[in-house]
Formats: sequence, structure tokens, C-alpha cells
Amino acid sequence: MNLSQRPAQVADVARRTVALGLNLAASGNVSARSPEGFLITPSGREMSGLAARDIVPVTLDGVAPAEMRPSSEWRFHRDIYAAFPEAQAVVHAHSPFAVALSCLRRGVPSFHYMVALAGGEDIRCAGYATFGTQALSDQVVSALQGRRACLMANHGLTAWGGSLEAALNLALEVEALCAHYLRACQAGEPVLLSRDEMAEALEKFGNYREED
Ligand code: 13P
Ligand code: ZN
Repeated sequence: MNLSQRPAQVADVARRTVALGLNLAASGNVSARSPEGFLITPSGREMSGLAARDIVPVTLDGVAPAEMRPSSEWRFHRDIYAAFPEAQAVVHAHSPFAVALSCLRRGVPSFHYMVALAGGEDIRCAGYATFGTQALSDQVVSALQGRRACLMANHGLTAWGGSLEAALNLALEVEALCAHYLRACQAGEPVLLSRDEMAEALEKFGNYREED
């Protein structure tokens, strides 16, 4: 990826989270790794109107230009880049079905083989902490161990990927899984796939989704 185009690409993915129904207004945030740290959407701004000039460079120490205000969630973006060397981009969303499930403080169990896309046999729900805090970042990084996505209690979802496209696509897939799981729960008790069945799905994904 051409580094000079990265701010424009972050802004583009931020706008697309709104167009795709993952976010609305100023909810959610998007970032991409940079040589100095990462580039992140600004705090409290309409995601649908963001342009390259609005994207804030932040160092791994959390330092941003004085005249710019990075997303209030810069801590968990920073900590994801520190904890997962393959992470090149992070998408955080308040998408409707992920929020609904997160308010039950439930993750997504192995009800569908696509759960394996996030890297394991389930997608965890991180414990609750106030938005923008180090406590929330700690909960998110803990829920992401061995995974590329998690829900966040009473809040939403976070996904990381080897590229902005991969992080966005995973966020979309997780939102769809939350929708399917909640619908299945309304109709009855979903039958869960076994550990062996999930292990097989994980192995197959490992072979054909290399960019993740
Ligand atoms: P920011 O506008 O500060 O990124 O906050 C949005 C959000 O989703 C907080 O969790
Ligand atoms: Zn949020």
C-alpha cells in the first residue's frame, strides 16, 4: 500500500462503514498502521464526511499533532498494533446486531462455520469499561487473544486485519453473524458445531484466506 495514500484510504473506509450500515453519525472509528504508529479518524466527527486531511497521525506513545483530536479510542487501536504484529488496520463499529448481542454480554458461539473467520471457534465479548479508557483497551486486547475480532459489552464490535479491506470485511462478516445468531436464538436454541467441526473450518480458512 502506498503510504502517501493511507490517510485517504482510512477516510474512505470510514465513510464506507456508514454506507454499509456499520456506523452512523460519529459512531465508530477506523485506523491503519503507519511507520511512526498509526493514522486514525478524528474524535466526534461525522464519519460520512471525512477526508484525508481529517485523519490524525498518532505515535505509538499516543502523541498527536496539537491542533488535531484523534479518536477517543486511540488507546485500543494502539494496543492492537502493539499486541498483534500482523494487524495493519482496525475497524470499530456500533453496528446494530453486534450492539444488540453485546448488550446481552454474549459473544458469538460456534453456531456457524463462518465464526472461524475471526480466527477461533468463537467470537468473544470483551468485558464492559467506559469508552475511551485504558480499561476498555485492556478488555478488548484480552478478548482478541487468538482472534481478529471481538464484541465489546454494551458497545459494539472491533475487527483488525492485514489491510483496511480485510478489517472492513471482517467487521461486516461479524455483524452478519451477530444478526444470524440473534435470529436463530429467536426461533429456538441454535445447535453448535463441535470443536472438531470448527477445527476443520479453521484449517480450511487458513488455507484460502491468506491476506487475513
Ligand atoms: P470517537 O468519535 O472519539 O472515535 O468515538 C466514537 C466511538 O465509537 C467511541 O467508542
Ligand atoms: Zn465506540
